Amino acid sequence: MHADTPVDLTGKAALVTGGSRGIGAAIARRLAEQGADVALTYARSADRAAEVVRDIEGAGRRGLALRADAADADAIREAVDTAARRLGRLDVLVGNAGIGPYGPLAEVTADEVDLALAVHARAAFLTAQAAARHLGAGGRIITIGSSLAERVPYPGWTLYSMSKSALVGLTKGLARDLGPRGITAVLVQPGSTDTEMNPADAPEAAAEREFTALGRYARPEEIAAAVGYLAGPGGAYITGTTITVDGGVTA
Ligand code: NAP
Repeated sequence: MHADTPVDLTGKAALVTGGSRGIGAAIARRLAEQGADVALTYARSADRAAEVVRDIEGAGRRGLALRADAADADAIREAVDTAARRLGRLDVLVGNAGIGPYGPLAEVTADEVDLALAVHARAAFLTAQAAARHLGAGGRIITIGSSLAERVPYPGWTLYSMSKSALVGLTKGLARDLGPRGITAVLVQPGSTDTEMNPADAPEAAAEREFTALGRYARPEEIAAAVGYLAGPGGAYITGTTITVDGGVTA
């Protein structure tokens, strides 16, 4: 494949968790633009999820929004099965749903620890486990972690960093478990990305920007571009590893 060959996912089906807003919405739109039918999950934003589905349909693909709280084990397993059934197949899982617990270490509660681990680590595990039953050879499990799993340049992010670090082990294990079936697992670790979770115009954004080599936040579409590539033929031999898309924060 030449560098300028567009990735063609025609005939494939994808599920993006947390696809109603931000990075997940950009990924859902990108995969549809590349030709895939796309299901997405959300927790609260039904209207926003419906908007993304309209964009997917506008790209000429089938779109499907499913309410499934990532903290609810049964709901996420059911969402995977429903997506595969309604779209007729499943080729790409993007585990993206996430929250941004941030604050002084002394104030973090046990319930907040449980929630972060449930939404990030447990949900990613259970979603991948459920998706593995539907994926065939060439299948992709792409999980959205964070560059904060690699380097934590500022205080207040211990819980978030810990919960995202679990995804490194998840990805390596999945690669070994599913490699014999021709299924790959990759962890994409964004850095500061302009979304409602981390707006580029917030007062604390200036400090984050300074840690990048490029001097700016990512746009969600720039994270989606990496995922779009990995979902296509170029991702075939990339597994058990991490792709950090952080504008050089970890440089
Ligand atoms: P965002 O704008 O806040 O969007 C979060 C998405 O996840 C929404 O679609 C939301 O759905 C969904 N979600 C949240 N909690 C959920 C739950 N319990 N169950 C199901 N869906 C849930 O955040 P974002 O910045 O796009 O973040 C997306 C991912 O990238 C997260 O995993 C985040 O940790 C990671 N990340 C973000 C940054 C950054 O700087 N923005 C950097 C590194 C990594 P609703 O709309 O229904 O709430």
